[in-house]
Amino acid sequence: MASYDFDLFTIGAGSGGVRASRMSASHGARVAVAEERDLGGTCVNVGCIPKKLLVYASAFGGDFEDAGAYGWRLGARSHDWPTLVANKDQEIARLNGVYAGLLDAAGVTRIEGRARIVGPHNVEVAGQRYSARHILLAVGGWPRRPEISGIEHTITSNEAFHLESLPRRVVVVGGGYIAVEFAGIFAGLGAEVVQLYRGPLFLRGFDDDVRTGLATEMRASGVDLRFDANPARIERSDDGSLVAELEDGERVCADAVLYATGRAPLTADLGLESVGVEVRENGSIPVDAYSRTSVEDIWAIGDVTDRLNLTPVAIHEGMCLAATLFGGTPTAPVHDNVPSAVFSQPEIGSVGLTEAQARQRYPEIDVYRSSFRELRHTLTGREQKTLMKLLVERASQRVVGVHMLGAHAGEIVQGLAVALQCGATKAQFDATIGIHPTAAEEFVTMREPVAD
Ligand code: NDP
Repeated sequence: MASYDFDLFTIGAGSGGVRASRMSASHGARVAVAEERDLGGTCVNVGCIPKKLLVYASAFGGDFEDAGAYGWRLGARSHDWPTLVANKDQEIARLNGVYAGLLDAAGVTRIEGRARIVGPHNVEVAGQRYSARHILLAVGGWPRRPEISGIEHTITSNEAFHLESLPRRVVVVGGGYIAVEFAGIFAGLGAEVVQLYRGPLFLRGFDDDVRTGLATEMRASGVDLRFDANPARIERSDDGSLVAELEDGERVCADAVLYATGRAPLTADLGLESVGVEVRENGSIPVDAYSRTSVEDIWAIGDVTDRLNLTPVAIHEGMCLAATLFGGTPTAPVHDNVPSAVFSQPEIGSVGLTEAQARQRYPEIDVYRSSFRELRHTLTGREQKTLMKLLVERASQRVVGVHMLGAHAGEIVQGLAVALQCGATKAQFDATIGIHPTAAEEFVTMREPVAD
């Protein structure tokens, strides 16, 4: 039998790669992981974690405004962006260290540098060649921008986390998770924000009521949200500011233009073609149910496979792969009922089917919908509405979709995802006693479906 330097060589120490490496090591495998940037990948360094810290920062503005109704008298307020960035960077550096510690404790060999595949069982990093029984591609993705004139003047989420100062006027292009989250962040911190989305309604793939509800709330909070609007070119003016000229000829001035128009898998120059790993046109790597690529001992997990591009999904895929390769239990990752949140302001939480998907899949569904003002805002006078929605398959009475727009939607829907995973019926939701007074209790007290 061939002898290898390692049982598993993982390329990419992001959420998926680190978990697969650690779990494989815990099954007794000899594992190495190569990373060319910071440990933790997108989520830790330029994604979920720093993003959520910025969301917290931006939400204080609204809280300060609301505080007056509760009797607080606050003095002059200002926001210091460099302090926020420095504190955020300190936390990220701490997390980088935690990741290093976790890998070391698991006995995983850490290799710094860019790895390339040079054979079906061989990887090269910084001129050094390693052999491995299995190779895992967990290289993730990178922001992608359209090639329009002046695009070099724009930034992506990567740079947004390290701006030297808060731009006074920001144009955000895109209508996905990242665009709505950053529009909320910049607006909450006091910038004038124009968000441009090329289609008629943003957040394609989410439930329509949630999409329209968020559009209403974002506009109410001051974001200039424009649909069917897209830049044709970007120019830098003599005074240093930017001008986005839209396809209809309108010009929008800004100090920063943030493109959040999707992410592309980081598969270029990885040596994939040298061993025949199949790559799709968009750069992603097709895999079978067990995360195997078109090459026998080369595997791929996480965003690079373009299945469901979410950190917890990559982690799940990593756990399953470790069990398959070294745990003696071939385990296919499951991509059903994956809950997710958009940290827009207000937040979206969702699990299961959207109403449109449920109507397509089942002959008959019942829709339960509730829209109300949260108790907190009875004093503040804010018109903000919380929206909750349950989708129930009429025949089986199973709840097949849960959607929420409102404060803490992510926290609330995480719990309900367990119920969906268990196949809960509407009757079981009804039999569950609410916690009063919460917004979440509405999910167990919706009695009448909306008329068909
Ligand atoms: P998405 O793919 O979610 O959204 C991209 C947006 O940009 C869409 O609105 C798309 O429009 C638009 N777009 C694409 N190409 C162009 C173009 N050429 N010109 C103008 N608009 C364009 O990508 P994101 O960058 O928002 O997020 C990347 C990934 O990160 C997602 O897969 C998401 O799963 C993950 N993520 C998850 C988060 C979370 O869980 N909270 C947070 C942030 C990211 P259209 O709809 O018309 O195609």
